[in-house]
Amino acid sequence: STLLAGKVAVISGAASPRGIGMATARMFAAHGATVAILDLDERAASEAASSIGPAHRGYACNVTDRQACHAAVERVVADLGKIDVLINNAGITQPAKLLDIDPESWDRILDVNLRGVLYLSQAVVPQMKKQGKGSIGCMSSVSAQRGGGILGGPHYSAAKAGVLGLAKAMARELGIDGIRVNCVTPGLIQTDINAGKISDDKRGEILAGIPLNRLGVPDDVAGAFLFLASDISSYITGAVIDVNGGMLIH
Ligand code: NAD
Repeated sequence: STLLAGKVAVISGAASPRGIGMATARMFAAHGATVAILDLDERAASEAASSIGPAHRGYACNVTDRQACHAAVERVVADLGKIDVLINNAGITQPAKLLDIDPESWDRILDVNLRGVLYLSQAVVPQMKKQGKGSIGCMSSVSAQRGGGILGGPHYSAAKAGVLGLAKAMARELGIDGIRVNCVTPGLIQTDINAGKISDDKRGEILAGIPLNRLGVPDDVAGAFLFLASDISSYITGAVIDVNGGMLIH
């Protein structure tokens, strides 16, 4: 399709080969976008980008580093000319009980999942304002809505709930500039973030609560981001799209 024809999309945390970011990059490219993959390691980001096709680029960007976000965005604009779409996908998780969350873990989880959304959005929004248009998709989680219970601890739930509030506030503020901001809240998606970390018992328990009777795959989430990135969602902003197989229906 040509849903994203001519659009430039920046996707954070998209170098992990079996991850949601990479699946999103691949799907965006298949629908006509030129993709800029941002991730911790420049070489991994570049290799991920060229695995999709020669037009796509990879850049080092630790989203917790404000300067790095601005520098990466400058490079994207220099190389690709503009930015139409930003997908704030980078994230990390950690299983933990409330009383075991130490200050360092709190900071680490909040920094990547929440502060990173602020910093990368702050870097991209001036460019989108200049263009008078843009779409920002943010990665939250069903953990934000149901208080965890899958893999991440309370700090992960808090960070992903923070993403919902931040994204909704951005949607309210940036609508006047033609910039839409929406969130996706996936349930359990099979990627390296949880590979080997969920026992068979736990997995069975989770499956029993999923009406569609399967775990999610990265393309399930990529499809939601594709919809939000494209102009067919042109009157949708401040929304939250569940991608959870019915695990949480509200
Ligand atoms: P993943 O581990 O495969 O991908 C995460 C990517 O983020 C990796 O490429 C990693 O290098 C990158 N990253 C980590 N810290 C970064 C930083 N500081 N700056 C830039 N990049 C960084 O895992 P995934 O499952 O594909 O996760 C993608 C997103 O989806 C995360 O935000 C995660 O919290 C969220 N999510 C995942 C699930 C799930 O079940 N897999 C469910 C809900 C939400």
